[in-house]
Amino acid sequence: FFIAFEGGDGAGKSTQVQAIAEWIRSKGHEVVVTREPGATPIGKRLRAILLDVASAGLSDRAEALLYAADRAEHVNAVVRPALERGAVVISDRYIDSSVAYQGAGRDLSPTEIARINRWATEGLVPHLTVLLDVSPETARERFTEAPDRLESEPAEFHQRVRSGFLALAAADPARYLVVDAGQEPDEVTTVVRHRLDQDLPL
Ligand code: C5P
Repeated sequence: FFIAFEGGDGAGKSTQVQAIAEWIRSKGHEVVVTREPGATPIGKRLRAILLDVASAGLSDRAEALLYAADRAEHVNAVVRPALERGAVVISDRYIDSSVAYQGAGRDLSPTEIARINRWATEGLVPHLTVLLDVSPETARERFTEAPDRLESEPAEFHQRVRSGFLALAAADPARYLVVDAGQEPDEVTTVVRHRLDQDLPL
């Protein structure tokens, strides 16, 4: 069973990923927690390039392809092998992050971004995508860990990213859980657990 957590910076993805992973483990399942970009040795090098301030001038298409390359490596080396042995895989970000950031955020076609990523992943789609939706204002108040990452893009960029995520969820409601991530973290976890109680083959 493959679960992706998506959302803008400061939505609380890593906190929720950890809480849900512990809960699923407590039920006796193997859980593999992973993330993008940077889950593999090659991915770590790609992440360093992508998040280096010196890469600010990287062309939009090259950026999109590097994220897709990281994802191809991630799926091939981590996600598929874990799913094949029956583990639950929880990924902090997946294809939707590219559609939202490189597609809606930058000026690339979201449809084309989705297409290169379908190719990169050989069509691997999560069983459930949890979208932690938060306003860029709330995110900024919270995101103290690396505020420069938020500040490096204008507010309108983060708005477009948020709208990009919401559009994906609206297009395929059965496969998404959209949670108001402005709530307390415990409340968010409760909502996600409730959905997984129904979806997870436990
Ligand atoms: O989720 P994490 O904090 O590791 O993401 C690192 C950064 O990469 C984020 O600040 C996010 O804005 C950016 N990112 C991106 N496009 C993606 C994935 C992440 O611009 N597809």
